[in-house]
Amino acid sequence: PRLPVVIVGAGPAGLTLGNILRAASIDCLVLETETRAFIEQRPRAGVIEEWAVRGLEERGLAGPLLARAERHSACEFRFAGRPHRIPYHELTGRHHWVYPQQLLVTDLVREYADVRGGAIEFEVRDVRLHGMDSGKPAVSYTAGDGRRRLVGADFVAGCDGARGVTRTVLPDWAKTSRHDYGVGWLALLAEAPASADCVLFGVHPRGFAGHMPRSPEVTRYYLQCPPGDDPENWPQDRVWAELQERLAATGRPPLTEGPLIEKRVLDLHNHVVEPMAFGRLFLAGDAAHLTAPIAAKGMNLALHDAFLLADALIAYLTEGDITGLSGYSDACLRRVWDYQEFSQWLSDVYHGASSGDPYRAGTTLARLRRLFDSPTAAGAFAEQYLGETPAG
Ligand code: FAD
Repeated sequence: PRLPVVIVGAGPAGLTLGNILRAASIDCLVLETETRAFIEQRPRAGVIEEWAVRGLEERGLAGPLLARAERHSACEFRFAGRPHRIPYHELTGRHHWVYPQQLLVTDLVREYADVRGGAIEFEVRDVRLHGMDSGKPAVSYTAGDGRRRLVGADFVAGCDGARGVTRTVLPDWAKTSRHDYGVGWLALLAEAPASADCVLFGVHPRGFAGHMPRSPEVTRYYLQCPPGDDPENWPQDRVWAELQERLAATGRPPLTEGPLIEKRVLDLHNHVVEPMAFGRLFLAGDAAHLTAPIAAKGMNLALHDAFLLADALIAYLTEGDITGLSGYSDACLRRVWDYQEFSQWLSDVYHGASSGDPYRAGTTLARLRRLFDSPTAAGAFAEQYLGETPAG
């Protein structure tokens, strides 16, 4: 068999792409290593920028999100025992939507497979790409029934995330840039309601702490820790004591505690692959660029790539217009690098105070003062945090 598009990976990037292609009556096949139940429950991101929500809405993909997601209007830094609120909606006119990634994935799978009639195979193994720079590109894989299959594809979308296989077929001249932050974050999910109506960033000499509401019952927290630390070093009591201390601020109640249902150490690093295309292969989302959760950007970039790739593929497959595909990598990378730069800036703010380096602590303090005291600086921060940048 031969298909116009094979999509490797059923995350936000692959499923958004598949949905948009199906709406344009383009046949595609999505290949996913996990089960449907697994991807519908895998908790990860939760913050979606307003332009991305609008992009989903325009493509008929935001129904449940708009009905259920919480809209946020501000974030709050906590520093030297004081709260500093940044009212980003007032500053930019834009919101963040808080919607757990697994709910978005659930909506997108349902719409793709059950409503738009898209083909998807779960529990595939050993996906391999063949001849991406030839006239006969193809994908082979072992299906759930154990049989090896070979599918011809005019185009392959590599949407298989940071640990995927598709980017490994890029030639040697493709460039991977990597940035290691040199810090670890203990990523936690607590079965506890949020302790504030917004995201909290605790900048503390003991290390960064973050509070990110997810749902009425579950809140994500982050605690800076040494890279490679063992989550077992962080029993429940120690976690809550550190969170309470690093996020404490006058006039604010203590955090509402609850059982921890996820506890993982992330060694913060980013990477960017350039170009994001090779022959008939186009990468999208984490497969091309991993962004540590510092500025909550990863899922947003995955959606941005998916919108651009879908429009470009549709223009080519229906009208023979190649301009979108030719400019795809450059167009994605403008936003990718913009978000990388912001993540790096924000990482310095989060981690400078606890770096042990008095020079970095001094410049962090200067940045924070400017952010808290200058409406212009707060406005520039809000624009980048909301992703409303000229790069888009
Ligand atoms: P993925 O969601 O990783 O999807 C890739 C899919 O491909 C997966 O389903 C995987 O099972 C499948 N796959 C992998 N290998 C293969 C293969 N060989 N063959 C077939 N299928 C394969 N981002 C934000 O925007 N905001 C946040 O607040 C945020 N918080 C985060 C917190 C944590 C703890 C983590 C880990 C990430 C966070 N992110 C956040 C990042 C966000 O989750 C990712 O950027 C997002 O999932 C990227 O979507 P994707 O579709 O590119 O990749």
